[in-house]
Amino acid sequence: MGEVCVRVAVRVRPLLPKEVLHSHQVCVRVVKDGPVVMLGGGQNFSFDHAFGPSASQGQVYESCVKPLVASLVHGYNATVFAYGQTGSGKTYTLGGGHIVSLPEEKSGIIGQVATDLFVLLGEKSADDIRTITEVRVSYLELYREELRDLLELHTAHKELHIREDDRGKTVVVGAKEAVATSAEELLSILEAGNALRHIGPTQMNERSSRSHAIVTLQLTQHRPDDGSLRCSKLHLVDLAGSERAARTGNTGMRLKDSVHINTGLLALGNVIRALSDPHRRNHVPYRDAKITRLLRDSLGGSAHTLMLACVSPSHHSVTETLSVLQFASRAR
Ligand code: ADP
Ligand code: MG
Repeated sequence: MGEVCVRVAVRVRPLLPKEVLHSHQVCVRVVKDGPVVMLGGGQNFSFDHAFGPSASQGQVYESCVKPLVASLVHGYNATVFAYGQTGSGKTYTLGGGHIVSLPEEKSGIIGQVATDLFVLLGEKSADDIRTITEVRVSYLELYREELRDLLELHTAHKELHIREDDRGKTVVVGAKEAVATSAEELLSILEAGNALRHIGPTQMNERSSRSHAIVTLQLTQHRPDDGSLRCSKLHLVDLAGSERAARTGNTGMRLKDSVHINTGLLALGNVIRALSDPHRRNHVPYRDAKITRLLRDSLGGSAHTLMLACVSPSHHSVTETLSVLQFASRAR
């Protein structure tokens, strides 16, 4: 079996202006000489990458996501997922919120992936005119273990099913895959999907903290002269908030959401841990939740996985931050 590659990065966002105003104290620091995060007085956690409050969007992208875009072009699958409590910076880091309207220095991972992918494909087609490439994008929301298509208004309420084809490729039957011929086109397709997410039955913020949003880029590289076909995909996943049911004290409908969220995040954690453990790689529990079934062919095997754990620096979030850092450090 090939080398399993799970890398873990932590990003500590700055205190927000309103937190400064309310005198929140910083309780998480990135240690200078190493990818180590220190919580409170001295509990240390080490990762593959650690970004402090002054890290730019470009730094995060260049050091941990750019290599995955190159490997996508080489035919490998990859998954990037943002994990963390609501308000910790997942959507900001991925750049899923206002994809098109952001100035370049604020542009998150999705915008930078789109730009880089088309640059790489342009360079490649300049040396190799026989390969025909196609980029397709899909955008799904997974809420209460139900998949919804954010690119198609009419089918937004149709149930989508996850299947595995005879070559082990995961397919979502009925999901729209829109062809994008430039970075701008790709981003405007996703922007339209965001607009659809906003008109969901509940408010955007509330819903987005309780659902997983999955952007998938599929690349096909086809050479008509020799019939070769290479397919690869990259998932960019904004996970539901990791805050636990116990702490929010929710009841009824909300409690049901929390149970689904916990199931999904727990299953993801178990899959990642199994992948990082050489003795368990043959028994990876993908089937336990929809999120892991959906990402199956892009987690483990020859795929590259990046877990981006986002945390708030505020002392008000210390309990949640501790559990996120523990989750992230168990993933390595
Ligand atoms: P989440 O998606 O995890 O709920 P958000 O991405 O919405 O969190 O971030 C919460 C708030 O913090 C937003 O107002 C966002 O603009 C801000 N924020 C998050 N990360 C950063 C950062 N690295 N630099 C500046 N502001 C940030
Ligand atoms: Mg968010």
